[in-house]
Amino acid sequence: MKHKDFSAESLAISGGHDPASAHNSIKPPIYQTSTFKFNTAEEGKAFFINASGDAPLEERNASLIYTRLNHPNAITAEFKLAQLDGAEDAAFFESGMAAISTAIFSFCHAGDLILMSSPLYGGTDTFIKKHAVQFGIEWIEFEPSATSAEIKALIQSHPKADRLKMIYLETPANPTLSLTDIEMIKEIRDELAADAVIAVDNTYMGPIFQKPLAHGADLNLYSATKYIGGHSDIIAGAASGSESVIKEIKKKRSILGNTASPFTSWLLSRSMETIGLRMEKQANNAQKLAEFLDSHSKVKATHYLGLMKESDSLYALFKKQNTSGGAMIAFEVHGGESEAFKFLNALELAHLAISLGSTETLVSHPFTMSSSNMDEADRLKNGITPALVRVSVGIENIDDLIKDFDQALKAI
Ligand SMILES: *Cc1c(COP(=O)(O)O)cnc(C)c1O
Repeated sequence: MKHKDFSAESLAISGGHDPASAHNSIKPPIYQTSTFKFNTAEEGKAFFINASGDAPLEERNASLIYTRLNHPNAITAEFKLAQLDGAEDAAFFESGMAAISTAIFSFCHAGDLILMSSPLYGGTDTFIKKHAVQFGIEWIEFEPSATSAEIKALIQSHPKADRLKMIYLETPANPTLSLTDIEMIKEIRDELAADAVIAVDNTYMGPIFQKPLAHGADLNLYSATKYIGGHSDIIAGAASGSESVIKEIKKKRSILGNTASPFTSWLLSRSMETIGLRMEKQANNAQKLAEFLDSHSKVKATHYLGLMKESDSLYALFKKQNTSGGAMIAFEVHGGESEAFKFLNALELAHLAISLGSTETLVSHPFTMSSSNMDEADRLKNGITPALVRVSVGIENIDDLIKDFDQALKAI
């Protein structure tokens, strides 16, 4: 296939695999091997030189040595994600946390500083505040409502301001859906910390409904367990960005040894063919379910980006960064934990489970589940209350979903 002639949408279907390389198989085989034969010792020597970093991407991808470093199924999956994200390259990992921790360790070392938005996914919050600090990496965080001037003052007042190496954003944030303006952050970075990498956890929207690189981010990070995998059958993570940024991350991935396996990578390639279809259907369902919840007497507040009105102060930012409201809803029932639990225990079609982005609808309680390792004060400050329920909307029949939520709300 002559890649340059086709759109990213088409290349994400069958790009990245050459049938002629594998008995004309339309789908890539699973290359279940740990190591690759060198045709000559000279070739082995050349491959090691290429793999150590500075060769162009195509040469590095052609230099197959050992599956921890690189393998054909990862290369196929990485090509597809790079197309979808408008990136030069991508890297897959055995979990979202592997992608996130490897990216942070690629750019932040002892004595460096990370600036982050809040709230972050509970695992990321814990990694930065309780684990990265053990390696001498310091952090500061800003609140969703912070202005550019407030963020600049926060950076400038820190004694390590000159060591700011990463600005880590989650927009929309899990589970509160708060938004951060990526272009504003880029202006701050360009002014105060030119070599800081801007990373965006794009799990909630991407790669279909949000393209952070187009707004000035350097790096997309994903839990590919969620929409990219899309079927609740794998744990995986991803990074995408420029060739130079991903090259650094791949060097760290090789040595930490958390490269996505051939089978995981193969499943990810399979899933990326339908991600657009799945996410569109999920978002359509979410819009209808959110409208239903918003008008329900047992529901105190519904957070869904697709419910935003033009009069909302964040509407322009939402329209700038996102092409859909997505398929994540959070809503508060009247009452507290016991009312929320009555609802959760009464669901019949939707499943009570953490995780998100899959074909089936998943419902959970962030306060006691996915965000429970955050300090309680941080949870409450960010609206993660005992009455809050999080919904990842699937591709079921929407009338059935509404019927199920309605009967479960009646249990309160
Ligand atoms: C799930 C999730 C992660 C962590 O990914 P794993 O695949 O579970 O390691 C990171 N960020 C967000 C926003 C998530 O939802």
